[in-house]
Amino acid sequence: MTETDSDKLAVDGLPPLRAVVERHGLATKKALGQNFLLDLNLTGRIARAAGSMEKHTVIEVGPGPGGLTRALLMHGAHKVVVIERDDRCLPALEEIAAHYPGRIEIIQGDALKTDFTALANKGPVKIVANLPYNVGTQLLVGWLEAEPWPPYFESLTLMFQREVAERIVAAAGDSAYGRLGVLAGWRTRAEIRFDVPPQAFWPPPKVTSSVVHLVPRSDPLPADGKRLSLVTQHAFGQRRKMLRQSLKPLGGQTLLDAAGIDGTRRAETLSIEEFCRLANTRV
Ligand code: SAM
Repeated sequence: MTETDSDKLAVDGLPPLRAVVERHGLATKKALGQNFLLDLNLTGRIARAAGSMEKHTVIEVGPGPGGLTRALLMHGAHKVVVIERDDRCLPALEEIAAHYPGRIEIIQGDALKTDFTALANKGPVKIVANLPYNVGTQLLVGWLEAEPWPPYFESLTLMFQREVAERIVAAAGDSAYGRLGVLAGWRTRAEIRFDVPPQAFWPPPKVTSSVVHLVPRSDPLPADGKRLSLVTQHAFGQRRKMLRQSLKPLGGQTLLDAAGIDGTRRAETLSIEEFCRLANTRV
């Protein structure tokens, strides 16, 4: 019998990802934002970007066929909890679980409806994900608004399309500066680690992606996250307008006067400290 490519095992002793996807009939679904990473070298690079994880529970959102999951386990994650919405992926994930007994917990469900704090009751936690962009952004905002702070997670290592990654790490004055940059900069140190070209995914998306690593600040400026989100949403919702106009629904000039901020300024000129001041001012 001759050995074909799909008979060969990958470095972790499991079948190559392409063979896993074929065997389980995992035709990608656009509605679930499925662009799979099938190269274990690349998923290994993402796992390394998350840092050491020997003592950690790593929560991975959207594992799909498990390329990143396998890299996290090879990288030494003490335990990986995966949350996947698509039940077609479960048999492939069960195979990984059998290969690494006791080190994976598989949850089938929607990450947007998952109580992450309930998963994080044992030891330090890191969160890693390659998610569809809209789900990823929504989850990121939830993690940035977590209470209490510092939160239950030590870091977030997340894949986004490059343009969203730039918004996350943007500072005042940058054209990409907006609500995401204010929230991320307020509570974390965020940096883009590396870019991932479209051809690294199956099927290839239209745009370049980037891996962003965020580490919670231990002492962010005091502010109510939800209020900060609201203020930035209004301020950047009409980013070309003066703040006295864009912030009208929250008190406009009266609010700005009380916070000591010039109402003729535009949102992109305000520092994170000034946004916190606005969030803390009630009129
Ligand atoms: N992590 C895998 C990889 O890197 O190859 C898959 C990445 S693919 C971009 C996104 C994955 O997230 C898919 O497996 C999809 O089914 C899953 N997904 C999409 N929406 C989800 C949600 N709301 N909750 C949990 N998983 C979700």
